[in-house]
Amino acid sequence: MSEACEFNPVTDMYGTDVFTDEVMRSTLPKAVYKQLKKTMQDGTPLELGVADVVATAMKDWAISRGATHFCHWFQPMTGGTAEKHDSFISPTSGGRVLMEFSGKELSQGEPDASSFPSGGLRATFEARGYTAWDCTSPVFVKGNGDNKTLFVPSAFCSYTGEALDKKTPLLRSMEAIDKAAIRMLRILGNSMSTKVTATLGAEQEYFLVDEEFVERRLDLLLAQRTLFGAPSPRGQEMDDHYFGALNCRVGSFMAALNKKLWSLGISAKTQHNEVSPAQYEIAPIFDTVNVGVDRNHLTMEAISTVAREHGFYALLHEKPFAGVNGSGKHNNWSIGTDDGINLLEPGETPHENMQFLVFLFAIIRAVDKYSEVLRASVAHAGNDHRLGANEAPPAIISIFLGDQLNDIVEQIKAGGAKSSKRGGTIELGVSTLPPLPKDCTDRNRTSPFAFTGNKFEFRMAGSSQSLSGPNFVLNGAVAEVLTEMADVLEGASGAELNTRVQDLLKSYAVEHGKIIFNGDNYTAEWHAEAAKRGLSNLRNTPEAIDIICDAKNVAMLEGQKILSAGELKARQEILFEQYAMLINIEAKTSVQMAKRQIIPAVTEATTALASSVAAVSAAGVEPTAQAALLAKTNSLLAAVASDVEVLEAAIAKAGAIDEPREASFAFLNDVIPAMTALRADVDALEVIVDEDVWPLPTYADMLFRR
Ligand code: ADP
Ligand code: MG
Repeated sequence: MSEACEFNPVTDMYGTDVFTDEVMRSTLPKAVYKQLKKTMQDGTPLELGVADVVATAMKDWAISRGATHFCHWFQPMTGGTAEKHDSFISPTSGGRVLMEFSGKELSQGEPDASSFPSGGLRATFEARGYTAWDCTSPVFVKGNGDNKTLFVPSAFCSYTGEALDKKTPLLRSMEAIDKAAIRMLRILGNSMSTKVTATLGAEQEYFLVDEEFVERRLDLLLAQRTLFGAPSPRGQEMDDHYFGALNCRVGSFMAALNKKLWSLGISAKTQHNEVSPAQYEIAPIFDTVNVGVDRNHLTMEAISTVAREHGFYALLHEKPFAGVNGSGKHNNWSIGTDDGINLLEPGETPHENMQFLVFLFAIIRAVDKYSEVLRASVAHAGNDHRLGANEAPPAIISIFLGDQLNDIVEQIKAGGAKSSKRGGTIELGVSTLPPLPKDCTDRNRTSPFAFTGNKFEFRMAGSSQSLSGPNFVLNGAVAEVLTEMADVLEGASGAELNTRVQDLLKSYAVEHGKIIFNGDNYTAEWHAEAAKRGLSNLRNTPEAIDIICDAKNVAMLEGQKILSAGELKARQEILFEQYAMLINIEAKTSVQMAKRQIIPAVTEATTALASSVAAVSAAGVEPTAQAALLAKTNSLLAAVASDVEVLEAAIAKAGAIDEPREASFAFLNDVIPAMTALRADVDALEVIVDEDVWPLPTYADMLFRR
């Protein structure tokens, strides 16, 4: 076949593995299709008879795509995804099989789920967990190797209905923001929109290293990051990797990745080299927030599997390499109506401006009031290497609005609301508030929460994390504030509404001005200024997790019916446990590499140096350099041996603590410093020991060889 014949246009391959609206329409009887669409729109449960018809159509379509199995695909509290496949086969009396899939199997599953983290919500003897189809996220066929399975995106909860996953609270939060935003829109005079949905576009960063290096580095294999490694003589200082021309192998990888994502209906849109050597980014076109989260999981998985097919190993960890940039996941978030209005679009007319300003101020208040739990939503051992380091926003939440919006906030705060451009009094919604141009300001790359034209970009999430947390916190917090505002505004119209909005926005501008910061978030001055303003700075994961169950957070999440106090407590416990376990894995891996690879290699190096010293002395010449090198190597070796002992003791001590909170602080305060001290001595050895003896691939190898 010629190359031209093999070329498969994107328009042909796009969405072929998805049970799309088009497929539904063509495979389902009209009445069934209508009912399914209604269920997807407003959540009315599907009758079993209807579900049976839908399931059969899905199964036939999936089989035509090569599938033999189906699975409920869910997002347990591990932070990843889970799937248990069932084949469609059903034996016949004649010793053969039929392929079957019932409406009940589509709608609900009951995996034996005792081994997922539940934070004490469920004892193992009562391990029943249920999965329920999230029909608002498309069903798809996915291949892994030769296996092809029909995937049914699902939520996962306990026998008693408690959320055991990351999707359930997100779906609940979508209902909360829908309800609150529609109520607000009605107050503002919109009678057309019937649904408001939060939207998400996730920019995903990752590293690719040659697979060969991972085979030789236990740390990359087990912890996804280098626990040792001296800096490469060349790092990212030339800024030549960012947006640079694609390496050919990387280009082929990206082409295969796009193909895979497009066939899954994921709108992979942008791709480029990122700041650090060996670092890349991919971003899709945005989706509704639950679909966006699902698809981000699929994207992370595809990055990993396609990398292996190209001889690479993908690192989704937040900080695979010290000294160069880490990887984040920018959470682009907005809210929009079913009739196509983006509520964060500044708009051209005063009427739209009032709507925009109401939603904008709701977000400002929500983010200020719940900045701590928002920060906690991205707390993760890996992310601690980024937040607060000089490449990612600090752990302090602030909002960037840009000059023009900032100016409007200042005017509203001052009460007079004079337009800087036109003069005259701004009366929201009736007179001369100038149209707000979309790109009214330069970008600020250092802000953790930046207004970027018609959406907010929350930049604190880590590259490996589920985006469920930040989005359900945002949705919930904004829903709560909108409800509060609606209580004040409801019943008013015309000039009276205008006055009440003005008053409300003014009080918010005064109360929450402290969260707005348009300067450089990376500077020490900002940290000092933020402290003066009383903004919270939760510098690490245990500190951040610690505030999750504070009364106001419980009240907001319970009030918005997103998580009960019990569910939240369980989550907090899981997060503490996970932090301790992750640091424990890193620490044990460090010990093992030091004992079994580094100490033996350096011992060999000292032997060789000692022989050289002896031989050179015997020849009657002073072995000055050899003796100095031997002394230095030997003393670092002794330091490493003693560091290992200290680290082992710290691991044993922290590991003996049962209480998850206390354990996680012990890992933070005792184990991490011991690990850091060991690394410093090992890295000092790396730069003086013979490269033929050194057992690990170097930073230069991993970052530059492909
Ligand atoms: P950047 O310059 O920061 O990379 P882009 O404009 O390319 O920003 O957009 C980044 C992401 O924001 C993309 O995934 C895009 O689809 C998403 N995005 C755009 N509009 C919205 C929206 N209304 N809601 C959520 N995400 C959005
Ligand atoms: Mg961005």
